[in-house]
Amino acid sequence: MSSGPPPSQPTAPVDVFAKVRGHAREEQLNAAREAGLLPYFHVQDSAAQPVVTMEGAERVQLGSNNYLGLTSDPRVLQAAHDAIDAYGSGLTGSRLLNGTIPLHLELEAEIADWMGTEDAIVFSTGHQANVGTLGTILSPGDTVVADSGDHASILDGCLLSKAKLRPFRHNKLDKLEKQLQRAASDGGGVLVVVDGVFSMEGDIAPLPEIADLCGRYGARLMVDEAHGAGVLGARGAGTCELLGIEDRVDLRMGTFSKSLASCGGFIAGSTEVIDYLRISSRAFLFTASAVPAAVGAALAALRITRSDEGPALFAAVLDNARYLRDGLEALGYAVVQPQPIGDGRDVVTPIVPVLVGDDWKAALLWRALFDGGVFVNTALHPAVPPGGAMLRTSVMATHSRQDLDRALGAFERVKRDFEAEHGALPGPGS
Ligand code: PMP
Repeated sequence: MSSGPPPSQPTAPVDVFAKVRGHAREEQLNAAREAGLLPYFHVQDSAAQPVVTMEGAERVQLGSNNYLGLTSDPRVLQAAHDAIDAYGSGLTGSRLLNGTIPLHLELEAEIADWMGTEDAIVFSTGHQANVGTLGTILSPGDTVVADSGDHASILDGCLLSKAKLRPFRHNKLDKLEKQLQRAASDGGGVLVVVDGVFSMEGDIAPLPEIADLCGRYGARLMVDEAHGAGVLGARGAGTCELLGIEDRVDLRMGTFSKSLASCGGFIAGSTEVIDYLRISSRAFLFTASAVPAAVGAALAALRITRSDEGPALFAAVLDNARYLRDGLEALGYAVVQPQPIGDGRDVVTPIVPVLVGDDWKAALLWRALFDGGVFVNTALHPAVPPGGAMLRTSVMATHSRQDLDRALGAFERVKRDFEAEHGALPGPGS
């Protein structure tokens, strides 16, 4: 007979799904949804155009990244159709194996030529381009110095890499320099990564000064051109072109999900780095390649951007941004103003954010605008600091003045009614 205590039962772990039930965010979302104030997950029932149908009514679309309005250009649509006819609806495999078609290679060559780099690599999304590049090029032991306003996909890539992350306060060059000084004694390689145009506030990174600091401290520089490519610079090649520092940037990232009217992302840089990504980046190797329609559309949109038509499109979207910004300011809204760039030039990007401050007020305003026939994006805490809620509006080259006047009319009515009931909103200069 055996003696001693019976073997104890293993204690059950906590349910890994426990966190999905009754968490604070769910309660907030439900309360907002019940009050009709949830600004997210609304369904668009029509094609991406300056004016769309959402939930049964027309709304001026001031909440998209379709900066050049090319998502409905007949040539882009035809290229997507042609790509489907030639290569099918999907490629069902990785670029490494059965997922490469000539269009991928043509697109990579066209991007490298546009960016003036030796080579470029196309990922299936912009998010994957950042994660798959930063997570590959950085290793434990390296240091990555990133602006606190950088896009989430940059942060995800930095975290995945296990490199030491040294963030610096948004656009503060003295803080960047401090981090570069510290990074010098970390012992590994150093990469600085910043957005060219910041996605929430639409402001621009001081890239010439950042490139100077990188040169002084021997760091590499990567710039995310998601919101700058296709809009800024004489060739529309982005912030680096606008600021005349293309030769001083090691890696330039871009997406097809904004000006280029499709879905996918790219990294442009030297042959040696791009070749390394092609054989080492897990977000490139272990996922299905971008579908033919997406690649065909992006290639056609890029060719339009690079044609004689490009400059007029860039001018149109930036003129529309100025018109909306000036109109909102004249109505007394607190438009977040980008800082002038080094030479004092007025900076305009397609992103025109309006500061509201309080989350609840921002949700109320969003709803009133939605009911008034305008869709805008809403940035609430934690996407922005507490008390920094914003309505993020953005324009397209194809918005007519009539579309923008219609939107401004709604902003005017909404402000008047809102302030009568809830008190003053922040005004210009807030
Ligand atoms: N970088 C920036 C700055 C972005 O704003 C975005 C998307 N909003 C991405 C990367 C990711 O691109 P995508 O949506 O094409 O995956």
